Amino acid sequence: MAEHQVVVVGAGMAGLVSALELARQGLQVTVVEAADAPGGKIRQPRVDGAPIDSGPTVFTMRWVFDEIFAAAGTTLEAELGLNALPILARHFWSDGSSLDLYADPQRSLDAVADFAGAQEARRFARFCATAREVYQALEGPYIRAAAPSALGLSGQLGTRGLATLARIGPMRSLWDSLGHHFQDPRLRQLFARYATYCGSSPWQAPATLMLIAQVELDGVWSVQGGMHALARKLADLAQARGARFHYGVRCEKIEVQGGRVQAVHLADGQRLHADSVVFNGDTAALRGGLLGQALRTAVPAKAPQRSLSALTWSIHAPTQGLALDRHNVFFQADYASEFREIFDGGRLPSRPTVYVCAQDRGSGDAPLGAERLLCLVNAPANGDQAHSPLTEEALEQCQTTSFQLMRQCGLQIQAQDHQVLRTTPQDFARLFPATGGALYGQATHGWMSAFARPGARSPIPGLYLAGGSVHPGPGVPMAALSGRQAAAALMASPALTRRSPRAATSGGISTP
Ligand SMILES: Cc1cc2nc3c(=O)[nH]c(=O)nc-3n(C[C@H](O)[C@H](O)[C@H](O)COP(=O)(O)OP(=O)(O)OC[C@H]3O[C@@H](n4cnc5c(N)ncnc54)[C@H](O)[C@@H]3O)c2cc1C
Repeated sequence: MAEHQVVVVGAGMAGLVSALELARQGLQVTVVEAADAPGGKIRQPRVDGAPIDSGPTVFTMRWVFDEIFAAAGTTLEAELGLNALPILARHFWSDGSSLDLYADPQRSLDAVADFAGAQEARRFARFCATAREVYQALEGPYIRAAAPSALGLSGQLGTRGLATLARIGPMRSLWDSLGHHFQDPRLRQLFARYATYCGSSPWQAPATLMLIAQVELDGVWSVQGGMHALARKLADLAQARGARFHYGVRCEKIEVQGGRVQAVHLADGQRLHADSVVFNGDTAALRGGLLGQALRTAVPAKAPQRSLSALTWSIHAPTQGLALDRHNVFFQADYASEFREIFDGGRLPSRPTVYVCAQDRGSGDAPLGAERLLCLVNAPANGDQAHSPLTEEALEQCQTTSFQLMRQCGLQIQAQDHQVLRTTPQDFARLFPATGGALYGQATHGWMSAFARPGARSPIPGLYLAGGSVHPGPGVPMAALSGRQAAAALMASPALTRRSPRAATSGGISTP
């Protein structure tokens, strides 16, 4: 089996997990990555000398990584420092109110009762129970499954699962469904925001996305060294099991001959033979012919709606006026306008919600002096348009309103120019080709969209797909699961099972 050569294109979360899974099972793995470091969207630029996590910051679904590390013969605790956060997130509204959600359910219940009254707290408890049921119904037949169809899923759900989904009305939007759960508009807004975790509008996302609330209520961890430490660790583990990494070089073409994958061509002129390729870029790049015309047929021809992009500020500066926790959200009053402007108008929101990750907080004392922040607002994924509405003036205006909202809620950030690194949808579009800056693959809009993502197997023999634009979708743990799926599909391919019948099941996860 050692002679089977795999090239993984992209060292994002899914590419790293695929590389680790395949290397530990004895395949020859080479990872080719355009950036200078592993992680993809998990980036950690230095600002004013400080490394700042400037991609994902919320670590959830730790069971995914427990399983991946265990399969690699180690444990998450042995490899990384993880801290369970007592406060899941701190929420502020421009009217001066605020609410913390806690890892301890009773504390959350008490906090909601103080915030919105005893009746609303009872509704919150019912919402949590429903979100948990939705998550439990979908974890096996959807999240862990290879590439379920709507029909296949309904067959797998069982009577209880079907009853749960029927009760929430899967064709209902998340926003609509939350209106049945909450009377306090602030709580409806807070839980609607979970649709943005997969880059979608709560007005168009299906009610089933309430399962993301359950994912967070199940626990949020911080990683010592930042989320980037997780990406580096996965790369180290894969390397220790024989995978080779080439950073700073783009794959320009995936060569197909006789109907199957043969090689990858790199921007520096190298041709690497490949019996199989795992592609971890956005599948839009395949559709757009960026990896060669032959690859266009690897995914459905019709381009789906892009998910959200973001405008972010990575900051190293002192703050004043407000007790931040690690994860903070600043809400403005008119939530609908944000998604109308982004998805219908292709514009930056004039009244954005602002997320702030205060990376030196969450377990222990507040930092003295400058602290590390990632501030993020949602943005349209049109950073590749020739006449993008995201002009310098529009970007500056959005910055002004975002920082005004935080000031209105009491937070002052005293940053000088050299302490701020701004990243725009145009920047994300350059980093992640063919996306326009979309950070979560396709938008999950409409109940059928959850079944529209391609699975790990592509129609081109030898080509496997992995990443946030592939089932089960975006987010660090979901991308990790898709990396596992790609490795499992590859190990189950006839080319490998002919050689080693046991190889197909040695990964310890179900193969399609
Ligand atoms: C600002 C921001 C905040 C986020 N917040 C969260 C969060 O809190 N929690 C969460 O779970 N998720 C969050 N996400 C989403 C999460 O980061 C992604 O869903 C996940 O990391 C995507 O992983 P991936 O496997 O798709 O790879 P990606 O991260 O998309 O990486 C793909 C890699 O492939 C490389 N590549 C592509 N094409 C080529 C080529 N032709 N040649 C060589 N290399 C190539 C790219 O350079 C890149 O490194 C956030 C994302 C961003 C950007």
